[in-house]
Amino acid sequence: LGGSIARALQQMSNATIIDEKVLSDCLNEISRALLQADVQFKMVREMQLNIKRIVSFDELAAGHNKRRIIQKAIFDELCNMLDPGKPSYTPKKGKTSVVMFVGLQGSGKTTTCTKYAYYHQKKGWKPALVCADTFRAGAFDQLKQNATKAKIPFYGSYMESDPVKIAVEGVDTFKKENCDLLIIDTSGRHKQEAALFEEMRQVSEATKPDLVIFVMDSSIGQAAFDQAQAFRQNVPVGAVIVTKMDGHAKGGGALSAVAATKSPITFIGTGEHMDEFEVFDVKPFVSRLLGMGDWSGFMEKIHEVVPTDQQPELLQKLSEGTFTLRIMYEQFQNILNMGSLGQVFSMMPGFNAEFMPKGHEKESQARIKRFMTMMDSMTNEELDSSNPKLFNESRIMRIARGSGRSVGEVMEMVEEYKRLAKLWSKMKGLKIPKKGEMSAL
Ligand code: GDP
Ligand code: MG
Repeated sequence: LGGSIARALQQMSNATIIDEKVLSDCLNEISRALLQADVQFKMVREMQLNIKRIVSFDELAAGHNKRRIIQKAIFDELCNMLDPGKPSYTPKKGKTSVVMFVGLQGSGKTTTCTKYAYYHQKKGWKPALVCADTFRAGAFDQLKQNATKAKIPFYGSYMESDPVKIAVEGVDTFKKENCDLLIIDTSGRHKQEAALFEEMRQVSEATKPDLVIFVMDSSIGQAAFDQAQAFRQNVPVGAVIVTKMDGHAKGGGALSAVAATKSPITFIGTGEHMDEFEVFDVKPFVSRLLGMGDWSGFMEKIHEVVPTDQQPELLQKLSEGTFTLRIMYEQFQNILNMGSLGQVFSMMPGFNAEFMPKGHEKESQARIKRFMTMMDSMTNEELDSSNPKLFNESRIMRIARGSGRSVGEVMEMVEEYKRLAKLWSKMKGLKIPKKGEMSAL
Protein backbone atom coordinates (compact mmCIF):
# COMPACT_ATOMS: atom_id res chain seq x y z
CA LEU A 1 0.00 0.00 0.00
CA GLY A 2 2.71 2.43 1.00
CA GLY A 3 4.39 1.66 -2.28
CA SER A 4 1.42 2.43 -4.46
CA ILE A 5 0.65 5.62 -2.61
CA ALA A 6 4.26 6.70 -2.87
CA ARG A 7 4.18 5.90 -6.59
CA ALA A 8 1.01 7.88 -7.15
CA LEU A 9 2.46 10.87 -5.35
CA GLN A 10 5.71 10.57 -7.24
CA GLN A 11 3.94 10.51 -10.60
CA MET A 12 2.13 13.65 -9.70
CA SER A 13 5.30 15.30 -8.49
CA ASN A 14 6.92 14.51 -11.81
CA ALA A 15 4.11 16.00 -13.87
CA THR A 16 5.11 19.33 -15.35
CA ILE A 17 1.62 20.77 -15.21
CA ILE A 18 -0.72 20.03 -12.34
CA ASP A 19 -4.29 20.14 -13.57
CA GLU A 20 -7.54 18.57 -12.36
CA LYS A 21 -6.78 15.41 -14.22
CA VAL A 22 -3.34 14.86 -12.72
CA LEU A 23 -4.72 15.36 -9.23
CA SER A 24 -7.73 13.13 -9.98
CA ASP A 25 -5.51 10.35 -11.30
CA CYS A 26 -3.35 10.58 -8.23
CA LEU A 27 -6.34 10.44 -5.88
CA ASN A 28 -7.82 7.50 -7.77
CA GLU A 29 -4.60 5.61 -7.41
CA ILE A 30 -4.50 6.35 -3.68
CA SER A 31 -8.15 5.34 -3.30
CA ARG A 32 -7.47 2.00 -4.91
CA ALA A 33 -4.66 1.38 -2.44
CA LEU A 34 -6.87 2.29 0.51
CA LEU A 35 -9.63 -0.03 -0.70
CA GLN A 36 -7.09 -2.80 -0.82
CA ALA A 37 -6.25 -2.04 2.79
CA ASP A 38 -9.93 -2.67 3.57
CA VAL A 39 -10.98 0.89 4.14
CA GLN A 40 -14.70 1.03 3.42
CA PHE A 41 -15.69 2.21 -0.06
CA LYS A 42 -17.92 4.99 1.25
CA MET A 43 -15.16 6.34 3.46
CA VAL A 44 -12.62 6.31 0.66
CA ARG A 45 -15.03 8.23 -1.53
CA GLU A 46 -15.64 10.75 1.22
CA MET A 47 -11.95 11.18 1.81
CA GLN A 48 -11.36 11.75 -1.88
CA LEU A 49 -13.92 14.54 -1.96
CA ASN A 50 -12.56 16.11 1.22
CA ILE A 51 -9.03 16.14 -0.09
CA LYS A 52 -10.10 17.77 -3.31
CA ARG A 53 -11.72 20.43 -1.18
CA ILE A 54 -8.75 20.89 1.16
CA VAL A 55 -5.87 20.81 -1.29
CA SER A 56 -5.49 24.13 -2.96
CA PHE A 57 -4.68 24.08 -6.64
CA ASP A 58 -2.81 27.33 -6.49
CA GLU A 59 -0.48 25.96 -3.88
CA LEU A 60 0.20 22.84 -5.90
CA ALA A 61 0.70 24.78 -9.09
CA ALA A 62 3.01 27.26 -7.40
CA GLY A 63 5.55 24.50 -7.10
CA HIS A 64 5.33 23.76 -3.40
CA ASN A 65 6.20 20.22 -2.44
CA LYS A 66 3.16 18.52 -3.92
CA ARG A 67 3.89 15.11 -2.54
CA ARG A 68 4.13 16.50 0.94
CA ILE A 69 0.97 18.60 0.66
CA ILE A 70 -1.16 15.69 -0.49
CA GLN A 71 0.43 13.15 1.78
CA LYS A 72 -0.27 15.42 4.71
CA ALA A 73 -3.87 15.95 3.60
CA ILE A 74 -4.43 12.17 3.41
CA PHE A 75 -2.74 11.62 6.73
CA ASP A 76 -4.81 14.29 8.47
CA GLU A 77 -8.01 13.07 6.86
CA LEU A 78 -7.46 9.49 8.02
CA CYS A 79 -6.60 10.70 11.52
CA ASN A 80 -9.88 12.64 11.57
CA MET A 81 -11.78 9.56 10.53
CA LEU A 82 -10.34 7.66 13.47
CA ASP A 83 -11.46 10.31 15.89
CA PRO A 84 -15.15 9.93 16.73
CA GLY A 85 -15.07 13.28 18.49
CA LYS A 86 -15.87 11.99 21.95
CA PRO A 87 -13.53 10.11 24.28
CA SER A 88 -14.49 6.69 25.59
CA TYR A 89 -15.60 6.07 29.17
CA THR A 90 -12.42 5.57 31.18
CA PRO A 91 -12.65 3.36 34.28
CA LYS A 92 -11.15 4.91 37.41
CA LYS A 93 -8.81 2.99 39.66
CA GLY A 94 -10.41 2.26 43.02
CA LYS A 95 -13.96 2.84 41.75
CA THR A 96 -15.98 -0.14 40.58
CA SER A 97 -16.41 -0.34 36.83
CA VAL A 98 -18.10 -3.12 34.89
CA VAL A 99 -16.67 -3.65 31.42
CA MET A 100 -18.35 -6.05 29.01
CA PHE A 101 -16.57 -7.49 25.97
CA VAL A 102 -18.54 -8.33 22.82
CA GLY A 103 -17.59 -9.52 19.34
CA LEU A 104 -17.79 -12.43 16.96
CA GLN A 105 -16.40 -15.84 17.85
CA GLY A 106 -12.67 -15.95 17.22
CA SER A 107 -12.28 -12.18 17.20
CA GLY A 108 -10.09 -12.43 20.29
CA LYS A 109 -12.45 -11.52 23.14
CA THR A 110 -11.23 -14.02 25.72
CA THR A 111 -7.59 -13.30 24.95
CA THR A 112 -8.20 -9.56 25.00
CA CYS A 113 -10.16 -9.68 28.28
CA THR A 114 -7.13 -11.16 29.99
CA LYS A 115 -4.73 -8.74 28.34
CA TYR A 116 -6.94 -5.86 29.45
CA ALA A 117 -7.09 -7.20 33.01
CA TYR A 118 -3.34 -7.85 33.09
CA TYR A 119 -2.56 -4.39 31.73
CA HIS A 120 -4.56 -2.77 34.50
CA GLN A 121 -3.32 -5.11 37.19
CA LYS A 122 0.25 -4.06 36.42
CA LYS A 123 -0.85 -0.49 37.01
CA GLY A 124 -2.17 -1.34 40.46
CA TRP A 125 -5.83 -2.12 39.72
CA LYS A 126 -7.78 -5.03 41.13
CA PRO A 127 -9.33 -6.60 38.05
CA ALA A 128 -11.49 -9.76 37.92
CA LEU A 129 -12.75 -11.88 35.04
CA VAL A 130 -16.25 -13.31 34.59
CA CYS A 131 -16.89 -15.95 31.94
CA ALA A 132 -20.42 -15.47 30.61
CA ASP A 133 -19.74 -17.60 27.55
CA THR A 134 -21.80 -20.72 28.13
CA PHE A 135 -22.22 -21.35 24.42
CA ARG A 136 -18.80 -22.67 23.47
CA ALA A 137 -17.55 -25.80 25.14
CA GLY A 138 -14.22 -25.09 26.78
CA ALA A 139 -14.79 -21.35 27.01
CA PHE A 140 -14.58 -21.38 30.80
CA ASP A 141 -11.43 -23.51 30.77
CA GLN A 142 -9.75 -21.09 28.39
CA LEU A 143 -10.56 -18.09 30.57
CA LYS A 144 -9.59 -19.98 33.70
CA GLN A 145 -6.20 -20.88 32.24
CA ASN A 146 -5.51 -17.33 31.11
CA ALA A 147 -6.63 -15.86 34.41
CA THR A 148 -4.61 -18.32 36.47
CA LYS A 149 -1.49 -17.55 34.50
CA ALA A 150 -1.94 -13.84 35.16
CA LYS A 151 -3.04 -14.41 38.77
CA ILE A 152 -6.36 -12.66 38.20
CA PRO A 153 -9.47 -13.82 40.08
CA PHE A 154 -12.12 -15.36 37.85
CA TYR A 155 -15.68 -16.58 38.01
CA GLY A 156 -17.58 -19.08 35.87
CA SER A 157 -19.32 -22.43 35.88
CA TYR A 158 -19.22 -25.75 34.08
CA MET A 159 -22.84 -26.52 35.00
CA GLU A 160 -24.80 -23.33 34.63
CA SER A 161 -26.04 -22.65 31.10
CA ASP A 162 -27.60 -19.25 31.66
CA PRO A 163 -25.03 -16.56 30.80
CA VAL A 164 -27.12 -13.82 32.42
CA LYS A 165 -27.17 -15.65 35.74
CA ILE A 166 -23.40 -16.21 35.70
CA ALA A 167 -22.66 -12.63 34.72
CA VAL A 168 -24.79 -11.25 37.54
CA GLU A 169 -23.36 -13.67 40.11
CA GLY A 170 -19.81 -12.95 39.00
CA VAL A 171 -20.27 -9.20 39.15
CA ASP A 172 -21.88 -9.42 42.60
CA THR A 173 -19.13 -11.67 43.92
CA PHE A 174 -16.32 -9.40 42.83
CA LYS A 175 -18.08 -6.23 43.91
CA LYS A 176 -18.13 -7.69 47.41
CA GLU A 177 -14.41 -8.44 47.12
CA ASN A 178 -13.77 -4.79 46.28
CA CYS A 179 -12.38 -5.44 42.83
CA ASP A 180 -12.40 -2.24 40.80
CA LEU A 181 -12.46 -3.60 37.25
CA LEU A 182 -15.05 -6.30 36.60
CA ILE A 183 -14.58 -7.72 33.14
CA ILE A 184 -17.30 -9.81 31.51
CA ASP A 185 -16.34 -12.12 28.64
CA THR A 186 -19.29 -13.09 26.45
CA SER A 187 -19.93 -15.68 23.77
CA GLY A 188 -19.45 -15.06 20.09
CA ARG A 189 -21.02 -17.50 17.57
CA HIS A 190 -19.90 -17.55 14.01
CA LYS A 191 -22.65 -15.49 12.49
CA GLN A 192 -24.50 -12.51 13.84
CA GLU A 193 -27.39 -14.64 14.89
CA ALA A 194 -30.40 -13.07 16.46
CA ALA A 195 -29.93 -15.36 19.45
CA LEU A 196 -26.46 -13.96 20.12
CA PHE A 197 -27.70 -10.40 20.11
CA GLU A 198 -30.61 -11.27 22.34
CA GLU A 199 -28.21 -12.90 24.80
CA MET A 200 -25.87 -9.90 24.71
CA ARG A 201 -28.75 -7.52 25.34
CA GLN A 202 -29.85 -9.54 28.33
CA VAL A 203 -26.37 -9.72 29.85
CA SER A 204 -25.98 -6.01 29.29
CA GLU A 205 -29.33 -5.14 30.84
CA ALA A 206 -28.71 -7.35 33.86
CA THR A 207 -25.17 -6.17 34.63
CA LYS A 208 -25.46 -2.55 33.45
CA PRO A 209 -21.86 -2.26 32.23
CA ASP A 210 -20.15 1.12 32.44
CA LEU A 211 -18.41 0.32 29.19
CA VAL A 212 -19.07 -2.16 26.38
CA ILE A 213 -15.98 -2.93 24.31
CA PHE A 214 -16.39 -4.26 20.79
CA VAL A 215 -13.51 -6.58 19.87
CA MET A 216 -12.72 -6.83 16.17
CA ASP A 217 -10.28 -8.98 14.26
CA SER A 218 -8.21 -6.66 12.05
CA SER A 219 -8.42 -9.07 9.14
CA ILE A 220 -12.20 -8.87 8.91
CA GLY A 221 -11.89 -6.67 5.84
CA GLN A 222 -14.78 -4.90 4.16
CA ALA A 223 -17.27 -6.65 6.46
CA ALA A 224 -16.06 -4.52 9.38
CA PHE A 225 -18.60 -1.74 9.01
CA ASP A 226 -21.73 -3.92 8.93
CA GLN A 227 -20.48 -6.13 11.72
CA ALA A 228 -19.61 -3.25 14.02
CA GLN A 229 -22.90 -1.55 13.25
CA ALA A 230 -24.89 -4.69 14.06
CA PHE A 231 -23.26 -4.88 17.48
CA ARG A 232 -23.73 -1.17 18.06
CA GLN A 233 -27.45 -1.47 17.33
CA ASN A 234 -27.86 -4.10 20.02
CA VAL A 235 -25.62 -2.98 22.87
CA PRO A 236 -24.24 0.45 23.77
CA VAL A 237 -20.71 -0.04 22.40
CA GLY A 238 -18.41 2.61 23.85
CA ALA A 239 -14.97 1.55 22.68
CA VAL A 240 -13.27 -0.70 20.12
CA ILE A 241 -10.25 -2.96 20.47
CA VAL A 242 -8.70 -4.21 17.23
CA THR A 243 -6.88 -7.54 17.51
CA LYS A 244 -4.28 -9.43 15.47
CA MET A 245 -2.52 -6.30 14.30
CA ASP A 246 0.64 -8.41 14.23
CA GLY A 247 -0.64 -10.33 11.22
CA HIS A 248 -0.81 -9.36 7.58
CA ALA A 249 -4.05 -7.46 7.83
CA LYS A 250 -3.74 -3.85 6.80
CA GLY A 251 -6.16 -2.71 9.46
CA GLY A 252 -8.25 -0.41 7.29
CA GLY A 253 -11.34 -2.05 8.77
CA ALA A 254 -10.56 -0.23 12.00
CA LEU A 255 -11.69 3.02 10.39
CA SER A 256 -15.01 1.41 9.57
CA ALA A 257 -15.46 0.17 13.12
CA VAL A 258 -14.94 3.66 14.47
CA ALA A 259 -17.40 5.10 11.96
CA ALA A 260 -20.00 2.41 12.62
CA THR A 261 -19.83 2.52 16.42
CA LYS A 262 -18.95 6.21 16.76
CA SER A 263 -16.52 4.99 19.42
CA PRO A 264 -12.76 5.33 19.66
CA ILE A 265 -10.25 2.51 19.44
CA THR A 266 -8.58 2.29 22.83
CA PHE A 267 -6.14 -0.62 22.49
CA ILE A 268 -4.77 -2.96 19.83
CA GLY A 269 -3.72 -6.58 20.16
CA THR A 270 -0.37 -7.40 18.60
CA GLY A 271 0.11 -11.08 19.42
CA GLU A 272 -1.19 -14.05 21.33
CA HIS A 273 0.72 -13.29 24.52
CA MET A 274 -0.58 -11.49 27.53
CA ASP A 275 1.66 -8.46 27.11
CA GLU A 276 1.20 -8.07 23.37
CA PHE A 277 -1.25 -5.28 23.89
CA GLU A 278 -0.76 -1.59 23.16
CA VAL A 279 -2.55 1.61 23.92
CA PHE A 280 -3.94 2.80 20.61
CA ASP A 281 -2.37 5.88 19.18
CA VAL A 282 -3.92 7.37 16.04
CA LYS A 283 -0.86 8.76 14.29
CA PRO A 284 1.44 5.74 14.31
CA PHE A 285 -1.53 3.63 13.24
CA VAL A 286 -2.22 5.83 10.23
CA SER A 287 1.48 5.84 9.40
CA ARG A 288 1.38 2.10 9.41
CA LEU A 289 -1.79 2.04 7.31
CA LEU A 290 -0.26 4.38 4.75
CA GLY A 291 2.80 2.21 4.57
CA MET A 292 4.90 4.78 6.32
CA GLY A 293 4.98 1.87 8.72
CA ASP A 294 7.98 0.79 6.70
CA TRP A 295 9.26 3.59 8.87
CA SER A 296 9.76 5.99 6.01
CA GLY A 297 8.00 8.71 8.00
CA PHE A 298 10.21 7.88 10.89
CA MET A 299 13.29 7.95 8.69
CA GLU A 300 12.30 11.24 7.20
CA LYS A 301 11.99 12.63 10.70
CA ILE A 302 15.44 11.39 11.60
CA HIS A 303 16.92 13.19 8.63
CA GLU A 304 14.99 16.28 9.55
CA VAL A 305 15.85 16.61 13.21
CA VAL A 306 18.91 14.52 14.13
CA PRO A 307 22.17 16.41 13.80
CA THR A 308 23.87 15.15 10.63
CA ASP A 309 26.95 13.85 12.43
CA GLN A 310 24.83 11.68 14.73
CA GLN A 311 22.69 10.20 11.96
CA PRO A 312 24.90 7.40 10.65
CA GLU A 313 25.50 5.91 14.07
CA LEU A 314 21.86 5.97 15.09
CA LEU A 315 20.69 4.55 11.76
CA GLN A 316 23.27 1.83 11.96
CA LYS A 317 22.08 0.85 15.42
CA LEU A 318 18.50 0.89 14.22
CA SER A 319 19.18 -1.36 11.27
CA GLU A 320 21.03 -3.83 13.47
CA GLY A 321 17.95 -4.02 15.66
CA THR A 322 20.10 -4.24 18.77
CA PHE A 323 18.86 -2.16 21.64
CA THR A 324 21.12 -1.80 24.64
CA LEU A 325 20.48 -0.07 27.92
CA ARG A 326 23.02 2.52 26.87
CA ILE A 327 20.87 3.41 23.88
CA MET A 328 17.89 3.58 26.19
CA TYR A 329 19.82 5.88 28.50
CA GLU A 330 20.74 8.17 25.62
CA GLN A 331 17.14 8.29 24.38
CA PHE A 332 15.88 9.11 27.85
CA GLN A 333 18.37 11.93 28.04
CA ASN A 334 17.11 13.20 24.72
CA ILE A 335 13.51 13.03 25.83
CA LEU A 336 14.30 14.93 29.02
CA ASN A 337 16.13 17.60 27.07
CA MET A 338 13.17 17.67 24.71
CA GLY A 339 15.93 17.22 22.23
CA SER A 340 15.55 16.19 18.67
CA LEU A 341 15.45 12.49 19.30
CA GLY A 342 12.64 12.94 21.75
CA GLN A 343 10.62 14.06 18.77
CA VAL A 344 11.83 11.18 16.66
CA PHE A 345 10.94 8.62 19.24
CA SER A 346 7.54 10.09 19.77
CA MET A 347 6.80 8.64 16.35
CA MET A 348 7.61 5.10 17.34
CA PRO A 349 4.43 3.26 18.18
CA GLY A 350 4.47 2.30 21.84
CA PHE A 351 7.13 4.73 22.87
CA ASN A 352 4.89 7.73 22.95
CA ALA A 353 1.60 6.45 24.32
CA GLU A 354 3.22 4.44 27.08
CA PHE A 355 5.95 6.82 27.97
CA MET A 356 4.40 10.19 27.66
CA PRO A 357 0.68 9.73 28.08
CA LYS A 358 -0.98 13.05 27.44
CA GLY A 359 -1.56 14.98 30.63
CA HIS A 360 0.97 12.94 32.59
CA GLU A 361 4.19 14.47 31.32
CA LYS A 362 5.43 15.27 34.83
CA GLU A 363 4.98 11.70 36.06
CA SER A 364 6.61 10.33 32.93
CA GLN A 365 9.60 12.58 33.39
CA ALA A 366 9.97 11.57 37.02
CA ARG A 367 9.81 7.93 35.97
CA ILE A 368 12.45 8.42 33.30
CA LYS A 369 14.72 10.16 35.81
CA ARG A 370 14.26 7.30 38.24
CA PHE A 371 15.21 4.82 35.55
CA MET A 372 18.29 6.84 34.71
CA THR A 373 19.40 6.93 38.35
CA MET A 374 19.27 3.14 38.38
CA MET A 375 21.15 2.90 35.10
CA ASP A 376 23.84 5.09 36.60
CA SER A 377 24.56 2.20 38.95
CA MET A 378 25.12 -0.25 36.13
CA THR A 379 28.42 -1.54 34.86
CA ASN A 380 29.56 -1.00 31.27
CA GLU A 381 28.95 -4.66 30.61
CA GLU A 382 25.34 -4.26 31.65
CA LEU A 383 24.82 -1.07 29.69
CA ASP A 384 26.23 -2.54 26.49
CA SER A 385 24.51 -5.88 26.70
CA SER A 386 21.34 -6.56 24.80
CA ASN A 387 20.51 -9.63 26.83
CA PRO A 388 17.98 -8.99 29.58
CA LYS A 389 18.77 -12.42 31.06
CA LEU A 390 22.02 -10.90 32.26
CA PHE A 391 20.04 -9.25 35.03
CA ASN A 392 20.02 -12.00 37.60
CA GLU A 393 19.05 -11.55 41.20
CA SER A 394 22.43 -10.48 42.47
CA ARG A 395 22.87 -7.86 39.76
CA ILE A 396 19.39 -6.48 40.38
CA MET A 397 20.08 -6.27 44.10
CA ARG A 398 23.40 -4.54 43.53
CA ILE A 399 21.79 -1.97 41.21
CA ALA A 400 19.00 -1.36 43.70
CA ARG A 401 21.48 -0.84 46.54
CA GLY A 402 23.74 1.36 44.46
CA SER A 403 20.93 3.64 43.33
CA GLY A 404 18.93 3.64 46.53
CA ARG A 405 15.86 2.29 44.74
CA SER A 406 13.87 -0.85 45.46
CA VAL A 407 14.39 -4.22 43.82
CA GLY A 408 10.87 -3.92 42.39
CA GLU A 409 11.76 -0.65 40.70
CA VAL A 410 14.87 -2.11 39.12
CA MET A 411 12.79 -5.01 37.85
CA GLU A 412 10.27 -2.57 36.42
CA MET A 413 13.06 -0.82 34.57
CA VAL A 414 14.35 -4.07 33.11
CA GLU A 415 10.79 -4.88 31.97
CA GLU A 416 10.55 -1.50 30.29
CA TYR A 417 13.86 -2.13 28.61
CA LYS A 418 12.56 -5.44 27.26
CA ARG A 419 9.43 -3.78 25.93
CA LEU A 420 11.39 -1.08 24.11
CA ALA A 421 13.93 -3.59 22.82
CA LYS A 422 11.07 -5.46 21.21
CA LEU A 423 9.81 -2.31 19.49
CA TRP A 424 13.28 -1.46 18.38
CA SER A 425 13.86 -4.94 16.96
CA LYS A 426 10.97 -4.38 14.56
CA MET A 427 13.24 -2.04 12.69
CA LYS A 428 15.89 -4.66 12.12
CA GLY A 429 17.02 -4.87 8.53
CA LEU A 430 15.67 -1.44 7.85
CA LYS A 431 16.93 -0.06 4.56
CA ILE A 432 18.71 3.14 5.19
CA PRO A 433 18.02 5.67 2.48
CA LYS A 434 20.57 8.38 1.90
CA LYS A 435 19.47 11.90 2.37
CA GLY A 436 18.98 12.57 -1.33
CA GLU A 437 16.72 9.56 -1.68
CA MET A 438 14.24 10.68 0.93
CA SER A 439 12.02 12.51 -1.52
CA ALA A 440 11.48 9.31 -3.47
CA LEU A 441 9.87 7.54 -0.55
P1 GDP B 1 -12.96 -15.27 21.16
O1 GDP B 1 -13.65 -16.41 20.50
O2 GDP B 1 -13.46 -13.95 20.65
O3 GDP B 1 -12.98 -15.35 22.64
O4 GDP B 1 -11.42 -15.32 20.68
P2 GDP B 1 -10.15 -15.92 21.44
O5 GDP B 1 -9.71 -14.98 22.50
O6 GDP B 1 -10.41 -17.31 21.84
O7 GDP B 1 -9.07 -15.84 20.28
C1 GDP B 1 -9.14 -16.56 19.08
C2 GDP B 1 -7.72 -16.82 18.57
O8 GDP B 1 -7.10 -15.61 18.21
C3 GDP B 1 -6.83 -17.45 19.61
O9 GDP B 1 -6.05 -18.45 18.99
C4 GDP B 1 -5.97 -16.30 20.09
O10 GDP B 1 -4.70 -16.74 20.57
C5 GDP B 1 -5.84 -15.48 18.84
N1 GDP B 1 -5.58 -14.06 19.11
C6 GDP B 1 -6.28 -13.19 19.87
N2 GDP B 1 -5.74 -11.95 19.83
C7 GDP B 1 -4.66 -12.01 19.02
C8 GDP B 1 -3.68 -11.06 18.56
O11 GDP B 1 -3.69 -9.86 18.88
N3 GDP B 1 -2.72 -11.54 17.72
C9 GDP B 1 -2.69 -12.85 17.33
N4 GDP B 1 -1.71 -13.21 16.50
N5 GDP B 1 -3.58 -13.75 17.72
C10 GDP B 1 -4.55 -13.36 18.57
MG1 MG C 1 -14.03 -16.56 23.90
